[in-house]
Amino acid sequence: MAKAVSKKRSSPQTRPAVRALAGTVFVTRQVHFNAAHRLVNPTKDAAWNEQTYGLCSNEHWHGHNYVLEVTVAGEPDPETGYLLDLGALRDILTAEIVGPCDHRNLNVEVPFLRGVIPTSENLVIAFWNQIEPHIKSGRLYSVKLFETPRNFAEYRGPQPAL
Ligand SMILES: [Zn+2]
Repeated sequence: MAKAVSKKRSSPQTRPAVRALAGTVFVTRQVHFNAAHRLVNPTKDAAWNEQTYGLCSNEHWHGHNYVLEVTVAGEPDPETGYLLDLGALRDILTAEIVGPCDHRNLNVEVPFLRGVIPTSENLVIAFWNQIEPHIKSGRLYSVKLFETPRNFAEYRGPQPAL
């Protein structure tokens, strides 16, 4: 008798149902890194660089405590309720961005930034290109980089020309 009851309890019919909700959601992971850089266009002379970038072109470098926010968009999986595993997104950001950039000089030490003027604008595009191929559930929606709490740039992937 006891055996029969236990069988009944484990039967799928007696498990509570879950309701899958439809809707596009945006899930964000934030990571931090510190890096040095200098804004300089090596094809231009020193006067042009100083006039264009001011102190940001200081030949002895300067640093930022960067904050990177990466957002993935999509529908929650009906079985898990997750759009994606945020731990897996953290691992992608660690491998692709934080590992190569943290405590580095962005002008000279990061292979995927070679030849790129490391403005926030260029960095978000370069970071998108690094991250996007690794997003396996949902789609990459936004890469936002804070150079300071008040200055940040965001890239949402290729867009029609403005
Ligand atoms: Zn700077």
